[in-house]
Amino acid sequence: MAARVVPSEPRSTIYTEAMEVFHRAADLIGLDRRVRMELEEPDYEHIFYVTVKLHTRLSPLTQDGDRFKDLPDSELLPDGLEPLLDGSFVFKRRALIGANVAMRDGVLRLKGKGLYKVVPGRPERFKAYRVQHNQARGPYKGGIRFHQDVSLDLFKVLAAEMTWKTAISDVPFGGGKGGIKVDPKSLSSEELEALTLRYMYKLKPLIGPDLDIPAPDVGTDGTIMGLLLRQYTDGERERHKLRGVVTGKDTRIGGSEGRVKATGQGLAYCIQEWFADRGATPAGSRIALQGFGNVGSNAAEILCGLGAKLLAVNDAFGTIFNPNGIDVNDLISYVYENPRNMRRTVAGYPKAQQISKNDLFDVDCDIFIPAALGGEITGPVAERLKCKLVAEGANGPTTPEGDRVLAKRGIELIPDIIGNAGGVTVSYYEWIQNKRMEHWSETEVNGRLEQAIKSNYRIIRDIARNTPRRTATHNSSRYAIGKEVDMRTAAMVLALKRIEAHYQLEGFSQ
Ligand code: NAD
Repeated sequence: MAARVVPSEPRSTIYTEAMEVFHRAADLIGLDRRVRMELEEPDYEHIFYVTVKLHTRLSPLTQDGDRFKDLPDSELLPDGLEPLLDGSFVFKRRALIGANVAMRDGVLRLKGKGLYKVVPGRPERFKAYRVQHNQARGPYKGGIRFHQDVSLDLFKVLAAEMTWKTAISDVPFGGGKGGIKVDPKSLSSEELEALTLRYMYKLKPLIGPDLDIPAPDVGTDGTIMGLLLRQYTDGERERHKLRGVVTGKDTRIGGSEGRVKATGQGLAYCIQEWFADRGATPAGSRIALQGFGNVGSNAAEILCGLGAKLLAVNDAFGTIFNPNGIDVNDLISYVYENPRNMRRTVAGYPKAQQISKNDLFDVDCDIFIPAALGGEITGPVAERLKCKLVAEGANGPTTPEGDRVLAKRGIELIPDIIGNAGGVTVSYYEWIQNKRMEHWSETEVNGRLEQAIKSNYRIIRDIARNTPRRTATHNSSRYAIGKEVDMRTAAMVLALKRIEAHYQLEGFSQ
């Protein structure tokens, strides 16, 4: 019988990798051993399954076309056919109103489109998650991600990041994250709605406005938050009191002004502060951007409004470059206002060159903004970047190896936990407005956000430089640790000191 091999080292995962900075900062500040244990692993890891009935699809016929040469066109009500990204159509019953259908062996011909095979509807099971990392400072808080490449480890990373981020932003929340392993673009709008409602049906016992508060993340938006709100509150006696159960809602149903742009706005405030520290402004600075979704497009729009120049943009489907600068408002119209641009991509934008994703990393610029997925700035990518500052909009875009290379090359960093904290900060404002049944103006929201982001950014910078001080705008005197550290470690020091205070002053329930 083969002997069992006992691993000598704990398995390295994206979670253990992401926790490196936690351990580094914990060692530096001599974090209490028990507090460390409380934070090392999440409070709860929920995995559950959600089933949905998928509609019938018309899927393009790739083989056997000759057999159906003589098949006449079928006429279906276009309104009953929803196109999907993979070229198929979701078939809804209303497509048959006034239809003329000629079908043989489950194949039909759509006029001007070609042959399609009918794939009958069936139920499908999806894996769903909610990780609740820590609630020492307040209810768990964190986004809902719908994406095909998610895993428990990824949600653990993202939930822990939320614990650090809420502490750094000094909002009274802890950290959580969750979502569904699904490509939302592979579903019809009705299927996506059913999946979202079913997810909340199973999630409901685990969350609540004073317990765990989801928000949008990759693949979800204000519409999804509206559905989650409805499913959570439907039939409740005092349902209006429960509006704060999700944030990132439409402003007409309790969402906050400024929330949609908040993450990009927060990143722009950090970048402004980075320039202010050098006696400068973002005007004239050159930007290369990865990700043109909520965070990337809003950050770019705000920074270009301050006079910066957008040179290159990469997203999941392509990369564009214009050495003279890209008109960001025109690009936003191309991506978001053109119904034929179903993938919401910058690819094919006519007023720029199409380059490869790899070329993005060679663009000579001042600021590189990763605002897509995690793990993009690896060691080799960091070796290539030609920028002075990496300003992280995405969660975890730089690997530990990437970090080491950036530091070695003297490229400065605005770490994600402060860089993209604008979203959760305005989520907190939304939650307060919901509790108080108030509605604040965008000016009020942005005024508070600017003050919060800039003062916390300054505290992190003071920790990094070991220059504790108390000024009219911020007080870093409690947090500096007697020596200089990098910005990412400094941000973690701030988070851990703020969390540790709760354990120190409140103690543990035994
Ligand atoms: P989004 O879904 O609106 O946009 C994502 C963008 O990334 C799209 O342009 C997409 O094409 C691009 N992308 C996806 N895969 C890619 C790939 N492999 N290579 C290049 N580009 C790719 O998402 P978002 O809300 O803008 O979030 C972006 C990042 O910011 C995520 O890491 C998210 O966790 C983080 N974040 C978002 C918020 C928020 O409020 N939306 C808050 C904090 C952090």
